[in-house]
Amino acid sequence: MPDAEPIVIIGAGVIGLTTAVRLIESPLYATSKHPIHILANHLPNDPLDPYYASTIAGAHHLSFADDNDTRQRRYDTRTFQVMYDEWKKEGEKTGLMSLKQTEYYVGTDSHLKVYEHHPDFTVLDKSNYPTSIDHSISFTSLTMTPSVYLNRLLKRLEGKIQIHRYHLPCLSHLKHPSCTALIGSKSPLAVFVCTGIGALTLGGVEDTDVYPTRGQVIKLRAPWMRSGWTRQVGSLDGGEGGERTYIIPRYNGEVIIGGTREQNDWYPYPREETTEDILKRAQEICPDLVPPYTKGKEDHEESPLKELVEGVLVGFRPSRDGGIRVDIGDDLYLGNDKVKVVYNYGHGGAGWQSCWGTAEDAVEQLIKSL
Ligand SMILES: Cc1cc2nc3c(=O)[nH]c(=O)nc-3n(C[C@H](O)[C@H](O)[C@H](O)COP(=O)(O)OP(=O)(O)OC[C@H]3O[C@@H](n4cnc5c(N)ncnc54)[C@H](O)[C@@H]3O)c2cc1C
Repeated sequence: MPDAEPIVIIGAGVIGLTTAVRLIESPLYATSKHPIHILANHLPNDPLDPYYASTIAGAHHLSFADDNDTRQRRYDTRTFQVMYDEWKKEGEKTGLMSLKQTEYYVGTDSHLKVYEHHPDFTVLDKSNYPTSIDHSISFTSLTMTPSVYLNRLLKRLEGKIQIHRYHLPCLSHLKHPSCTALIGSKSPLAVFVCTGIGALTLGGVEDTDVYPTRGQVIKLRAPWMRSGWTRQVGSLDGGEGGERTYIIPRYNGEVIIGGTREQNDWYPYPREETTEDILKRAQEICPDLVPPYTKGKEDHEESPLKELVEGVLVGFRPSRDGGIRVDIGDDLYLGNDKVKVVYNYGHGGAGWQSCWGTAEDAVEQLIKSL
């Protein structure tokens, strides 16, 4: 139907792209063939940029959902189920790797209940972990290689939607000739706002509850690592509190170690002292990171992990007071035309592990509202 109104998705991170996939699989696309367009400043395969969180992320599936936060638990659990099925069916070419994940806790003797639903969940016996640790569990989880996974999402969209590099300064700009040249002159039926940290500045949204949580991580090459480790010091505080150290092996031999969580810190470059601290913390919780061929020849001046370093990355997690926003707001008026606005942003440090759950919720909410 060439005259159907377009549906526009703003943003091409993991949230915009999973939303687009669920949209083309929905009855809305199957029956009325609304042309779908993505408008985004950043696209997969661009050089890394702190403002494009999806490409900086570790990433592992390690929920922070509080025991009482049923919505977040649902999003995370659903996403694990979708990705685990994908991995079981197609293996590591998906960019997903299934692995044994060990969690260490300092200052608490409990863990989040959500982990108990993972395969192979076990509470470890005290004799199996260092005395500096108060509690430990292990289970099977997943890691993601962002560039591979994002490119596979693009492949699923190929020939079905159009993707444009375009900075939208304001929602009303959808009627600007530079935008209608891309999406056509008909006002959209609906707009999905999947802009991550951009929700803070996008005109017509300008959500002041959104803020950056800066994360600095190090990319190593350590292909012998095939299991994941995390140490949580202090309480998660119903979200992402405390200090967290993590080792995230990827299927391709890269290992991401981290990290930091610096709220409202916009510094976009690595800090040398943070790099040193991460190398130290990572080695503390996972001595197996040290290259097998250097064992016994340690130079105490320099971290033995240094020679594995391929890069130091910084990104801004799109955090939001009140948690992820997935809802339909007031209609947008473009002249006399009413446009539905569906919000799907504010995923903080959990966008990879919740993306399918939130994409499905956002698309279902739109369909119900029509
Ligand atoms: C160091 C670090 C480690 C992380 N580790 C994990 C992890 O292990 N597990 C996990 O689940 N999550 C992790 N995350 C969090 C995860 O990366 C984010 O939650 C997720 O990437 C958010 O995705 P997004 O699509 O909303 O945002 P982004 O990936 O930032 O994408 C936003 C998109 O919107 C576009 N955009 C914004 N404003 C505009 C505009 N005005 N006009 C046009 N386009 C616009 C951008 O160009 C981009 O395409 C980590 C993040 C960091 C930084």
